[in-house]
Amino acid sequence: MTGNTTFTMIKPDAFEAGNTGLILNKIIENGFKIKALRLTYLRKDNAEAFYAVHKDRPFFNSLVEFMSSGPIVAAILEKENAVEDFRKLIGATNPADAADGTIRKLFAASIQYNAVHGSDSDENAMIEANFFFNQFDRH
Ligand code: GDP
Repeated sequence: MTGNTTFTMIKPDAFEAGNTGLILNKIIENGFKIKALRLTYLRKDNAEAFYAVHKDRPFFNSLVEFMSSGPIVAAILEKENAVEDFRKLIGATNPADAADGTIRKLFAASIQYNAVHGSDSDENAMIEANFFFNQFDRH
């Protein structure tokens, strides 16, 4: 049984490029309902905590710098089979490998500057939503 909630972030590259509206529209067009939406910033310590699973990877410092370099838009999304369907909609981590029509194919510049985040499991969707939104359980 899969959940109906996922979490996304529009990353600083896509925000800076002015693609927030186009990306949100693509998300809505693909059947996701926006349950919560927030423009905010990650401090370095926030980005380190969010990506703690990658702390031993060679790109960790660069990723933290990037993710704390400008505004991000965080959102909780609802749809049947949300996590898997949203990963499909955003496409592969490296936009060079992403399928045509995916958000990363359309809006990402590189494996690091890849426009959007999407949770990779129901459990992480809940953890990540709670990272940005208080009292998520309320609605
Ligand atoms: P995702 O689940 O598709 O976002 O990919 P991961 O969880 O593996 O990686 C988290 C984020 O780290 C990615 O979205 C990229 O922004 C960045 N990233 C992943 N792999 C690399 C890499 O090989 N080099 C660099 N510079 N950044 C990477």
